Amino acid sequence: MAKPSKQSAVEKDAVFIYSDDLLNYRFSEDHPFNQKRLQLTLDLLKFSGAITESDIVPPRLATDEELNLIHDSSYIEAVKMAGKGELSKEKAENFGLGTEDTPIFKDMHEASARLVGGTLTAVDLVMEGKALHALNLGGGLHHGFRGKASGFCIYNDSSVAIRYMQEKYNARVLYVDTDAHHGDGVQWSFYDDPTSCTLSLHETGRYLFPGTGAVNERGHGKGYGCAFNIPLDAFTEDESFLEAYERAFREVIEFFKPDVILTQNGADAHCLDPLTHLSSTMRIYEEIPKLAHELAHEYCGGKWIAVGGGGYDIWRVVPRAWSRVWMEMNGRYPESGDLPEEWLTKWQPASPVPLIKTWQDPDGIYQKIPRKKEISEKNAQTLEKALYPLQKSKNQG
Ligand SMILES: [Zn+2]
Repeated sequence: MAKPSKQSAVEKDAVFIYSDDLLNYRFSEDHPFNQKRLQLTLDLLKFSGAITESDIVPPRLATDEELNLIHDSSYIEAVKMAGKGELSKEKAENFGLGTEDTPIFKDMHEASARLVGGTLTAVDLVMEGKALHALNLGGGLHHGFRGKASGFCIYNDSSVAIRYMQEKYNARVLYVDTDAHHGDGVQWSFYDDPTSCTLSLHETGRYLFPGTGAVNERGHGKGYGCAFNIPLDAFTEDESFLEAYERAFREVIEFFKPDVILTQNGADAHCLDPLTHLSSTMRIYEEIPKLAHELAHEYCGGKWIAVGGGGYDIWRVVPRAWSRVWMEMNGRYPESGDLPEEWLTKWQPASPVPLIKTWQDPDGIYQKIPRKKEISEKNAQTLEKALYPLQKSKNQG
């Protein structure tokens, strides 16, 4: 039996944003972005006894005015028309719609506004003090731009939420993104803004979409010094990933001193993910929310909103990884190292691959490569470079 995680002595009032409406965000039958993972995760939590109906709050629909906090009106109109089949191919292309990555689907505006509304529902509950933590796994669409869809993302719920928290609650927001892809949409939305701060830890853009997220992307104008990027080498393993994550998060939060933390919890850094090249295991998905939780209490009176993101092994990886975020939020950890038998029995017939039966990954889940030491050293150097300005300001007192 695997050792259950240590319990943190904190409140349990966390909310889980969900309704089946979130599943309507679906490009096509065989598109890798598949919100069925929300259903699989919720089911795993239910069978684990980690969630009850009273923990669940349905997502509202974001209004046009709210989407407009980030997105151009012309883009919102285009998404609406596309969803009704009324947008010409030519116009669609200008907005990044109808591409292989981000195809057009029926009622795509409503489905996308629901994901944003879910994150805003989470935000209001936390900022109004009705919950300490809130989780919207349907959100985390970090590649959405002001006037353009990109990388499976139409509206950028995190960007809208950050602007919304700034305007409605006058809040300083720290955004921490551990998706394997760079959180470009969010970074560029706030690149010149010193009242928010973005930290993205991702696989280097050398071989991976979207190609950005280098250490020297640090912000612009007044926002210079408020964007942080840690591009990790392909085949990075747990230890090196966690070392970078922990040090960067601690130093950045100490520097920025936010009122609230928004974490993007893409689960595509796992070694089984079909779209990326990192060698992480379930260990990072236990540790990532643990530190966010600890620091939310240390710096923000507990205010922590978490969203989902990437994650393309929806059977073996995402449900286990995302369950850990919720379990960390409400303090109900697995009672044994094994996944509930009922969940495995229910979903194995639908899964194209054998499900993993334990919360932690079995040994030998990825092929170790001889360059491990080199990769870890390279990542350590990257980390130094990324955090160098903080060292400098510390030394100057
Ligand atoms: Zn991703």
